[in-house]
Amino acid sequence: MPVGTSATVKTLSPAQLEAAGSQMVLANTYHLHLQPGEDIVKRAGGLHRFMNWKGPMLTDSGGFQVFSLSQLRKIAEEGVTFRSPRDGRIIHLTPERSIAIQNALGADVIMAFDECPPYPAERSAVEAAVDRTYRWLKRCIDAHAQPDKQALFGIVQGGVFLDLRREAAQSLVSLDLPGYAIGGVSVGEPAELIHEIVDATAPYLPADKPRYLMGVGTYREMAKAIAAGIDLFDCVIPTRLGRHGAALVQGERWNLKNARFREDFTSLDSTCPCYCCQHFTRAYLNHLVRSKEVLGITLLSLHNVTELIRFTQRIRESILSDRFTTEFANWLS
Ligand SMILES: [Zn+2]
Repeated sequence: MPVGTSATVKTLSPAQLEAAGSQMVLANTYHLHLQPGEDIVKRAGGLHRFMNWKGPMLTDSGGFQVFSLSQLRKIAEEGVTFRSPRDGRIIHLTPERSIAIQNALGADVIMAFDECPPYPAERSAVEAAVDRTYRWLKRCIDAHAQPDKQALFGIVQGGVFLDLRREAAQSLVSLDLPGYAIGGVSVGEPAELIHEIVDATAPYLPADKPRYLMGVGTYREMAKAIAAGIDLFDCVIPTRLGRHGAALVQGERWNLKNARFREDFTSLDSTCPCYCCQHFTRAYLNHLVRSKEVLGITLLSLHNVTELIRFTQRIRESILSDRFTTEFANWLS
């Protein structure tokens, strides 16, 4: 899932996202609550109509942003109080409030409001966050106004403590939710720990329901997580790299500002079917990036989203023909 933080995947139109092969798009509850506010989105007919995205959508709960971005936050059993970075007003976010906002936004998949402990954190603090996340999940389930229209996923926390991850997964599964996510990863821990967490958690989540690894979406991390059974990813990396003039090309990261591309009149990636690779040269991209032209960001974002989706498509095909572990051995080792 490309990330459409404010109901837009930065610099890409829905038509371009579709051309890139996107099947599902994520939007952020926290950002949409602050601007334009969920009432405007609801009056527009919901997120899909508001941003003209016809495919499935997922909204996060706002928890991750509150815990990672906000200053002056106060965590209590009731919920979290923080100051809006936009206008300084005090905002109170609770499990009930997060679900009410997500009900108004109207995405197909909504996420439970969870407590995401930082990394590193003491075991006792992570244990408390796991327990609170479970209590908050039950409040989310009770508050959910339209379970027939929106699938509510629970989130497994537990930091780097694998036994806590397993216990959290087992208690979530007992609630028989339509899908499950592994959260609280990609918060600054080494990549090796992400793999350990996923390997220790995914087997305890049912294989016949969607399993979603939150905030992860680079080649190796996706390949390894798919091997562990993960189905869904979201990541800002393809568009963020695009904004920084960088491209993902067959497993590598290239800086298009680099002088070596100045007179390179070949395609960015001749094997890629995207509009950028089919119509423009590396020299032109180098020029756009150096001139800070918006089109450069659009073309690189379009290519990067296409590239990562093609990567997962190739993995899907290799799984179906039983060649995954051999064809992707270099990513899985
Ligand atoms: Zn391309």
